[in-house]
Amino acid sequence: MTDTPTQLFIGGAWVDAADGATLPVDDPATGEIIAHVADAGPKDARLAEDAAVGAQDGWARTAPRARSEILRRAYEIIIDRTDELAHLMTAEMGKPLAEARGEVAYAAEFFRWFSEEAVRIDGSAGILPDGRNRMLLSRRPVGPCLLITPWNFPLAMGTRKIGPAIAAGCTMILKPAPQTPLSSLALAAILKEAGLPDGVLNVVPTSRAGEVGEPLLRGGRVRKLSFTGSTQVGRLLLAQCADTVVRTSMELGGNAPFVVFEDADLDKAVDGAMVAKMRNMGEACTAANRFFVHRSVAEEFGRRLAERMGALVVGPGTRDGVDVGPLIDVKGRAKVEELVADAVERGAQVLVGGRTPQGPGCFYPPTVLADVDPESRLMDTEIFGPVAAILTFEDEDEVVRRANDTPWGLVGYLFTEGLDRALRVSERLEVGMVGLNTGLVSNPAAPFGGVKQSGLGREGGRVGIDEFLEYQYLAVPVQ
Ligand code: NAD
Repeated sequence: MTDTPTQLFIGGAWVDAADGATLPVDDPATGEIIAHVADAGPKDARLAEDAAVGAQDGWARTAPRARSEILRRAYEIIIDRTDELAHLMTAEMGKPLAEARGEVAYAAEFFRWFSEEAVRIDGSAGILPDGRNRMLLSRRPVGPCLLITPWNFPLAMGTRKIGPAIAAGCTMILKPAPQTPLSSLALAAILKEAGLPDGVLNVVPTSRAGEVGEPLLRGGRVRKLSFTGSTQVGRLLLAQCADTVVRTSMELGGNAPFVVFEDADLDKAVDGAMVAKMRNMGEACTAANRFFVHRSVAEEFGRRLAERMGALVVGPGTRDGVDVGPLIDVKGRAKVEELVADAVERGAQVLVGGRTPQGPGCFYPPTVLADVDPESRLMDTEIFGPVAAILTFEDEDEVVRRANDTPWGLVGYLFTEGLDRALRVSERLEVGMVGLNTGLVSNPAAPFGGVKQSGLGREGGRVGIDEFLEYQYLAVPVQ
């Protein structure tokens, strides 16, 4: 966007960092710097906290309908500006424009969904079993929240948290990923335009995440952390939250199994694999990381998947006809290269891709590896790139055991035409979400989240707002 803000957003005003620091934002397709954004330090974090804490009381008392209408207006503005927002996202993150437009729609939908939930926050009243007391149960906002988001879905990871926080009546400090602050700043401008009162949302991009986050979490005034990012950082933040018993929602990493049984419809399985693997260039927590394919269909599945992956066009996300953009940065690409090299050293066959192209930009080709050794590092590491690693299995018990043999449990994908098997295996998978004969589970109306080290709590769906609400029980004697 031509007029995208690049300053911090604190108390409804656009301001520079107190120490004047800025951080560069680059385009991963070219490596060129596209903006310098104010780089918040601890002083700015304190100001943002003051603003959020100061606004909390009044905001909690606004009419739910007023909060709902702000979200609805913001939804409409985002949809109207789809193209501008998509270009901004592609510039700072790299995904092809078509995918960026898809993310804008997905992101906006969280606002529409939670505008509808804001007016349905209810409580209950009743007589307790002893007959002597009444119970009035009401719900109230948890209080000022710190929201920390990753770079892979720069807009949607923000709206997935901001939507329910606004609906519930919480104020916020948003700390976006340093690679992709522009989408969050554009979102703040849209919410201001939609009528969000000053101080309710504050945005502090920073290259000094620890210095900004830790005092907020240990300080006692922030009452809730909603974090999306890696399990490693999530663990660190959980420890920081322990001091003042900050409530947490943690959307962490995944290591999704993608299981193709011998009775699967292979057309559906390959279509599903293309989505589960290639959405966002494989840079998604929901990305299929381990393909377990029944021995009897593995060769055919690998051949067809390699054909489809090999036909994808790699290039800058802004170019027409491009299916696969660059990875986020050189570090991200180096990790993918190392994981592929390790698998190949252990005997994996490269069916397609596997070679880093020359030239500028962080590009990596769609890659399919067959006969992957189960001890390969990519089996217990999020690949976060366009690499499908295929292993084979013989029977159901074996594949369930292997699919569950990981500390993560975000999502699993199953391909089978047998209803009994589909239900039986889904129930045995240790994951928060299952895609049955589909490679896409994300939807604002469904509860998103994982088990084990993939996180705590759920985002979206009817339950998404619960993460931002507390119960209060009022005891009243029956006179
Ligand atoms: P990351 O954990 O490195 O960073 C996430 C966010 O945490 C960023 O904003 C970063 O600046 C911040 N951060 C890092 N160190 C911090 C600290 N000490 N204190 C406070 N904040 C800190 O993850 P990433 O590379 O940005 O994103 C990729 C990860 O996110 C992957 O593991 C992916 O699976 C996960 N993810 C999960 C979901 C989900 O819903 N489960 C969705 C998208 C991404």
